Amino acid sequence: MSELTGIFKQIEERNYSIDQCFLCGCQLNEENSTVEHVIPKWLQYEFNLWDQKITLLNGTLFPYKNLTIPCCFECNNIHLKPFEDKVKKAFENGFEGMCSLSEETLFYWLGKIYFGMMYRELFLNLDRADPEKGTITNPEYIDSFFSHFLFLQGIRGKHSFSNFFPASIYLFKTQKPQKIEDQWDFIDNHQTLFISIRMGDVGLMVHLQDCKATKNMEHHLDIHKEVDLHPLQFRELTAKILYKGLLMNRTPKFINTQTGDGPVETHLLPIQGFSSKPIFDDWDNDEYSYLMSFLTGIPLETCQPEKGKVYTWLVDENDEPIFIDVDDDQQNFRKN
Ligand SMILES: [Zn+2]
Repeated sequence: MSELTGIFKQIEERNYSIDQCFLCGCQLNEENSTVEHVIPKWLQYEFNLWDQKITLLNGTLFPYKNLTIPCCFECNNIHLKPFEDKVKKAFENGFEGMCSLSEETLFYWLGKIYFGMMYRELFLNLDRADPEKGTITNPEYIDSFFSHFLFLQGIRGKHSFSNFFPASIYLFKTQKPQKIEDQWDFIDNHQTLFISIRMGDVGLMVHLQDCKATKNMEHHLDIHKEVDLHPLQFRELTAKILYKGLLMNRTPKFINTQTGDGPVETHLLPIQGFSSKPIFDDWDNDEYSYLMSFLTGIPLETCQPEKGKVYTWLVDENDEPIFIDVDDDQQNFRKN
């Protein structure tokens, strides 16, 4: 892995620098230096995000337009651009267009956004005066982040998956509110390498490294594809899918091999491992209610009407999907 060794070392040592390409690690100079927007520029224009702010993990507000990562000309224009163009074109046809993209394209596209967020939030934005603040201390997360970085090398043709696909990707059709600022929603979680994006009529979620473990329960979620979801319902579903990922008690283990200068190939070891224990901990409605309340902004006492119970805006008492019209006064359903 001669070429990659340098950047692996940087990741391991968390020694990022603003003058190295986030993807290939090459030294940037006046000639090859570009900036890559973590949230693509076309999306920022589409949803008027340019002057809006995103809340970073440390709670600070940061303008979307300044959310950039250092990138070399070659990675930006030769490797990343084709993915960006493909997604942009698909998005012109909204939800149906996005459904036509391959899982691989969506993985690299979402994977880059996630990586950019983490790179910015956890590495580049460290408080220089207090280096302990904001660093990741969980070694398992470092391993996962390291693997994710390796997987992204597939964008440059330097990596492939041998016997598995790393992510669970979910697409739901959402209703498009009239106000442009209500048409965009973004949530990331670094405990599970998860992002949820609502853009126009597209609701997109990904667990980047559960190796399809949560996706295997997707049939339970099919019912939520029967109606176009209200933004609140999409947040509830985000809580649901994120929580399931948090319940996973195994960290996938990989073996990387490389022949000569060829791409690094990653093999997945059986997720179950040697233990017969289920790979997900039991669902706990009380714990889940907290997450749902946090993500929806709805008071806990509404989300959790009594201990062990949880409220839902997704289905009625007969488990039939509920349609909540986004153009209705929001107070109408919050009273329920
Ligand atoms: Zn590069």
